[in-house]
Amino acid sequence: MTDCIFCKIIAGNIPCAKIYEDDATLAFLDIGPCSDGHTLVIPKKHYETLDQCDPETMAAVGETLTNVALALVNALDIHGYNVVCNNGSQAGQEVPHLHFHIIPCKGNQKCVKLASQGQYAPGQMENIRKTIADALAR
Ligand code: 5GP
Ligand code: ZN
Repeated sequence: MTDCIFCKIIAGNIPCAKIYEDDATLAFLDIGPCSDGHTLVIPKKHYETLDQCDPETMAAVGETLTNVALALVNALDIHGYNVVCNNGSQAGQEVPHLHFHIIPCKGNQKCVKLASQGQYAPGQMENIRKTIADALAR
């Protein structure tokens, strides 16, 4: 994708603070860090969202995510980390190239929290479970 900022980083047309690279993935520091060491892990193939990504590529991304998370834990004095993947503008995705944030928590720094949680009405959970499970079985 010629007008994708992350594809330009992969191609080397825009510099990045690279942490790791292999044939399928790239990990680099986020330019606007939520905390020191905030890292982005991306597939080199351009996919907009997780649901579009092929399983083989996601397996490679998963391996890089795990290795980089371990490096962050070993290298920085952190107290946990969040892995965040925003999919679609409604979900807050600003760069439309699939990416996973690894956001270290340190000391009293605020960690990433999900929106406030509710509860299902009686029977609603089973209906939703069945709808999703049926879609998966197709
Ligand atoms: P999103 O909101 O799409 O989940 O996150 C996109 C992230 O990409 C943001 O945290 C933003 O700071 C980061 N970002 C955007 N442009 C660049 C860039 O050119 N270089 C780097 N390293 N990070 C970027
Ligand atoms: Zn791209």
